[in-house]
Amino acid sequence: MSTQQLPVKGCAGLDLRGGIYLDAVVIGAGVAGLYQLHRLRDMGMSVRAYEAGSGVGGTWYWNRYPGARFDSQAEIYQYWFSEELYKSWQPSERFPAQPETERWLNHVADTLDLKKDIQFNTRIASAHFDEENEVWRIETTGGEKIVTQFLIACCGMLSAPLSDHFEGQASFKGQIYHTALWPKEPVDLKGKRVAVIGTGATGIQVIQTIAPEVGSMKIFVRTPQYIIPMRNPKYSKADWDQWSSRFHELKKRVRETFAGFDYDFDAGPWEEKTPEERTQVLESLWEDGSLSLWLASFPEMFFDEAVSEEVSEFVRGKMRERLGNDPKLCDLLIPTDYGFGTHRVPLENKYLEVYLQPNVETVDCKKTAITRVVPEGIETADGTVHEVDVIIMAVGFDAGSGALSRIDIRGRNNRSLKDQWQQEIRTSMGLQVHGYPNLFTTGAPLAPSAALCNMTTCLQQQVDWITGCIDYALKHGNQVVEATAEFEDDWVRHHDETAAKTLVVKTDSWYMGSNVEGKPRRLLSYIGGVGNYHKRCDELARDGYPGFQMH
Ligand code: NAP
Repeated sequence: MSTQQLPVKGCAGLDLRGGIYLDAVVIGAGVAGLYQLHRLRDMGMSVRAYEAGSGVGGTWYWNRYPGARFDSQAEIYQYWFSEELYKSWQPSERFPAQPETERWLNHVADTLDLKKDIQFNTRIASAHFDEENEVWRIETTGGEKIVTQFLIACCGMLSAPLSDHFEGQASFKGQIYHTALWPKEPVDLKGKRVAVIGTGATGIQVIQTIAPEVGSMKIFVRTPQYIIPMRNPKYSKADWDQWSSRFHELKKRVRETFAGFDYDFDAGPWEEKTPEERTQVLESLWEDGSLSLWLASFPEMFFDEAVSEEVSEFVRGKMRERLGNDPKLCDLLIPTDYGFGTHRVPLENKYLEVYLQPNVETVDCKKTAITRVVPEGIETADGTVHEVDVIIMAVGFDAGSGALSRIDIRGRNNRSLKDQWQQEIRTSMGLQVHGYPNLFTTGAPLAPSAALCNMTTCLQQQVDWITGCIDYALKHGNQVVEATAEFEDDWVRHHDETAAKTLVVKTDSWYMGSNVEGKPRRLLSYIGGVGNYHKRCDELARDGYPGFQMH
């Protein structure tokens, strides 16, 4: 039921070519997609979300591997549009695991009665802009056709898994699992010989969780990670009442900080502190057991090599202690060739201690790279076949651009987003791409939501902006919104200039696209801060969306 009548285009006189018409289509039913569906439906639009999974949750639907949990605190990994909703769900601990987060997103979808407008088990194959009629013509992999005026991609920044990663995978006699495609049925690893490839945030969670259960484990390490031990206390009803009482304060706070968390760089300038004072700050943030050591200590570590080295050495020292100063393990597992925080820092729980177990072996992939998978296991460059029963691939994603590139998206003049992004990844503040009218994006490259953010903060902010923009356009007699080439150029330049001042661009990782062969190098996430990005978005809205052509 329409709560208000927006002057949308409608489908009168339009050849639907056997399809259906909707005012808006949302791709994905994760954190962003659920909220976007809610907002557009509330505006009175006919809208449907299409979701490849059989349930809601996005990341929290797909990533059901052992140990999956978020590392933003539960009190801020939240929706902020409804205090009632916030209070209606009590997290059991500071960093809940995947099953609880999936349940929470189901609770959100049920409370808002969203599922009736979500089509599950449906993957969007293509979306072509029909220039004559100024609508998007969409086709699902099952051949369904949908025509829509507005297309909002909420398909996630880490949702295109690198699942077909090694030659010979199909020949493997045992079971092979990518962590982001983990089965719903229990996987029995008890007593098995298990290989884990990858030691990013995902690999670390898997390794520490399955270690007590497996018969033996071979961990294939290429680039080691800095880590921070997670402190994860249980939350009581009284705790949640206390967080709930701070709802408005937290809601305001997360929008203003550097990374969308409640903490920020409040420690004061590095140069004004004595070495003892600096260590004190680092020690207390280390004890906090959250990402605050990274995102709320000294911002100088992102710009200044000397500060970066000191903070890195602080963390290395902690890691060495945990590894009992074992030279071989320290060499393999403690990073030395990039600075702390120039890549995503994972929280962990007894991860390093796993390497001290007698049934755990490591393979140094820097020395002997994986060449292929063979029927018995994994072959490395020295010709060794590492025989295992199960292979767990925690090898990551084609991040930021991957989810959209895997859909055949064609804008004006039949231009292909995939082809364009194979040359250069560009967007207009991660909200639109010039040449693709009425296509809006969340979690796309060149916005903080592509990586450097507490996801719920940034995704909601983008959904709010997109909704406001569509509402504004329609109420001002327009049917089409498109970022101009000049606006996009300016944003890309500003993005690059901001990134170039930091050390992040020197480190190879998915942040820079370097984990995917041939992917053009650019920092995927805007690094000017969530607060600044948010302010800029608000100014655009206040000033009538300059840089976005409407007609
Ligand atoms: P990732 O950070 O890209 O890590 C992939 C791992 O696989 C790396 O260790 C990589 O080594 C290794 N790898 C890839 N190809 C390889 C090969 N051919 N041979 C050997 N090793 C190979 O992916 P991820 O761990 O899935 O994490 C992605 C992001 O998801 C995280 O950064 C984080 O933002 C998010 N995440 C969040 C949470 C959370 O909230 N707690 C949990 C999990 C993931 P190289 O580094 O050498 O390429």
